[in-house]
Amino acid sequence: MGVPRNNFDSISNDLKSDDPKVLAAYLKENFKAFQLPDETYMDWATQWVNQRWNRTGQVHCNKYTSLECKILLMGDSAHATSPSIGMGMNTALRDAQKFNELLDKFDDNLDEALTQYSIDRVPEGNSLTSLALNLYCFDTNVQMKSIVKGIVRSGLHYFFPTLVDPDPQAIIGQPEHTMADVYDMAMSQGTLRKHMVINQRIRQEFFENEVGMVKDKQVKKSSLMKHYLFVVVVPVAAACAVAVYAKQSLN
Ligand SMILES: Cc1cc2nc3c(=O)[nH]c(=O)nc-3n(C[C@H](O)[C@H](O)[C@H](O)COP(=O)(O)OP(=O)(O)OC[C@H]3O[C@@H](n4cnc5c(N)ncnc54)[C@H](O)[C@@H]3O)c2cc1C
Repeated sequence: MGVPRNNFDSISNDLKSDDPKVLAAYLKENFKAFQLPDETYMDWATQWVNQRWNRTGQVHCNKYTSLECKILLMGDSAHATSPSIGMGMNTALRDAQKFNELLDKFDDNLDEALTQYSIDRVPEGNSLTSLALNLYCFDTNVQMKSIVKGIVRSGLHYFFPTLVDPDPQAIIGQPEHTMADVYDMAMSQGTLRKHMVINQRIRQEFFENEVGMVKDKQVKKSSLMKHYLFVVVVPVAAACAVAVYAKQSLN
């Protein structure tokens, strides 16, 4: 689609400067949302140069509580992940809400509440981290096809809601659906498993090349035949979009 990725090289050199004054001037000129007091630009710039570029890590745990230590994990301590699907804070807040409900349910019996909390929340946290990593495919061609398929599915779901499930992306964050529901749906539709396999391969190949485990770097070129889906699915997606628009206009 021509959307650029990895824009680090194309951002202003001012943003890469170690001089807070340069950064403060950049912010003052380019931050358009609202005006800040002069010392705030400098405060922001000083913090900026003193911290490294952020990276995201992933946390996976198969239990979130320890009865012996009377502790529990919630939020990023239990399931930190990339913000690709924007659900880290939502899931963290839900952890707290659910634990509060369990305390009420078990009349503040900590052992029972902790045990149930881990049983209930481990599937949620691990669904979150797996979806954040694999709902999007590292292979941009495959990802593009998945997006188009998602649009077609949404169109079909609109017309035949009892026959066709929605695109899992569309139910993320809806209160009636858990992250495990989204995970289950993405798995049953095949998208998630497919992306997992491809993403794992790409990560492994990157690692092999980085550390020199393989000598020949093979560049795989996509053939035209591999894009047959694109040729078929794009027109169908466009037709669905037009049909939805026409139906809404008629209503
Ligand atoms: C770029 C980005 C975009 C995001 N977008 C979204 C979004 O759109 N929607 C969404 O739901 N989520 C989003 N998230 C995720 C969300 O920010 C986190 O999931 C959420 O902040 C986790 O909350 P938390 O309280 O578990 O952890 P944190 O917010 O990390 O809080 C932990 C706190 O503990 C403090 N701390 C650490 N160590 C110590 C110590 N030893 N002593 C005392 N204090 C300590 C830290 O300073 C921090 O204040 C995004 C995250 C990033 C990075």
